[in-house]
Amino acid sequence: MLLYYHKVLYKVQILMFLAKSSNHKVFKYVLKTSYRVIIMIVMKFGGSSVGDAERITGVCNIVKSKLAEKPVVVVSAVKGITDKLIDTAKKAALGNDVSKELAEIKEKHHKILNELGLDEKLVDPVLEGFYKTIDKIFVMKTTNAEIMDEVQSFGERMSVKIVAACLSKMGVPSEGFNAYDVGMITTPDYSNAEPLPDTEERIKHAISKLKVVPIVTGFIGKDSAGNITTLGRGGSDYTAGIIGGALDAVTEIWTDVNGVMTSDPRVVKGAKTIDQISFDEASELAYFGAKVLHPKTIWPAVRKNLPVKVLNSFEPDHKGTTIVRESTKSKEVIKAIACKKNIHLINITSTRMLLAHGFLARVFSVFEDYKKSVDMIATSEVSVSLTVDKDSDLDKIKNDLDGIAEVKVGSGKSIVCVVGEGMKNTPGIAGRIFTAIGKNHISIEMISQGASEINISFIIDGKDADKAVQVLHKEFFG
Ligand code: ADP
Ligand code: ASP
Ligand code: MG
Repeated sequence: MLLYYHKVLYKVQILMFLAKSSNHKVFKYVLKTSYRVIIMIVMKFGGSSVGDAERITGVCNIVKSKLAEKPVVVVSAVKGITDKLIDTAKKAALGNDVSKELAEIKEKHHKILNELGLDEKLVDPVLEGFYKTIDKIFVMKTTNAEIMDEVQSFGERMSVKIVAACLSKMGVPSEGFNAYDVGMITTPDYSNAEPLPDTEERIKHAISKLKVVPIVTGFIGKDSAGNITTLGRGGSDYTAGIIGGALDAVTEIWTDVNGVMTSDPRVVKGAKTIDQISFDEASELAYFGAKVLHPKTIWPAVRKNLPVKVLNSFEPDHKGTTIVRESTKSKEVIKAIACKKNIHLINITSTRMLLAHGFLARVFSVFEDYKKSVDMIATSEVSVSLTVDKDSDLDKIKNDLDGIAEVKVGSGKSIVCVVGEGMKNTPGIAGRIFTAIGKNHISIEMISQGASEINISFIIDGKDADKAVQVLHKEFFG
């Protein structure tokens, strides 16, 4: 935020100097460029915001109302389409007839186009590409990470075309772009790709040349070999963050709720919008399950100290949440409670561990071998407990660990995470959390507090997850 204000201040100073020197040509030029540098926005609309013709019209009206801020628009696939593409590919890999699924995907997009008064054939070339990929899967009789990223790319490749055509029909010249055609080149880490270091420069260069409102695919990129990659499920938020960072812009994440809230409003009826939240708090919440924001979204903004906003496309006048480096002090010690489900808890016990140096290194090298990231960790002298969120390679990891210690894996667990910078200076928060949980007969299997002291996380059985979040929300927000 500070940098943002400095930029404004710096431009204002130049403008004043030029105004004094009455060099009007230069003055006009600087005015034009300052305008662009200061207030450009990247607006990302998620699946539910582009779920049907009415929603897409709503999105285009929001974009139209913001033309002065030179919007670059990022969109997700139409709601439910990414799941459907994955499901179709998996069925095809098993040799099943998928003509019904293919027809449903086609019909969904054609219906939207028809209702918008646009040519339904607009998405047909992209659909043809999808059919070819499905044919390949039929022949292969299996899928792999690379082809699954290609499969998932088709949703966004269709939605950008629809949104751009709708906006153009409203009188705003617009064009749909695949992110890789405007510079999004990534590592070949399928399903978890990262932009290459020069990606920001490439994006800046490509977008600055455009004379239309660009509608860019979220979620996807290409590696240097030309294969399609994805940034991970929910990754359109990250695409917007990357483009926002590249353009020194404000990133706006437009979704289906009024910003980042004190809890998931689907779980807690009385959840409230948080006006302002810090980068650190937002990161913790996103990482521990607040789906409203992909955990990596704010990385580029943190590096450049640019604000990120979370807004509601169903209620565009609501001010939502602003995420900044340092949030203003609030009277609430706790900002929010997040919950991440389907967690696997791995307990590793070894009596030999006592004083044995190098033991933890050996344990972690097993996770390293499978590129498995660990969410939470707690140690005692004879045991280490840690959690992972995906079951891929879990059996192999267990086997490898069996060689060095006794291992037990518990699945179907949940992490509950209480977040707030105010916790640093307020004693007794842990006491309040665990008393409230205990009173409700929910048993805790592991506890962890990060070194930053802005979160307290604990593991419980998945069946108690919603109740735990509701109990804690009541304890801290009434
Ligand atoms: P989009 O399609 O816009 O990307 P998502 O479904 O990915 O939207 O994220 C929005 C959803 O995140 C909300 O509908 C809400 O149920 C969920 N959510 C979870 N935790 C929170 C939270 N703390 N604040 C707001 N929304 C949350
Ligand atoms: N369409 C992708 C998904 O469903 C990316 C996103 O929506 O952010 O995960
Ligand atoms: Mg999302």
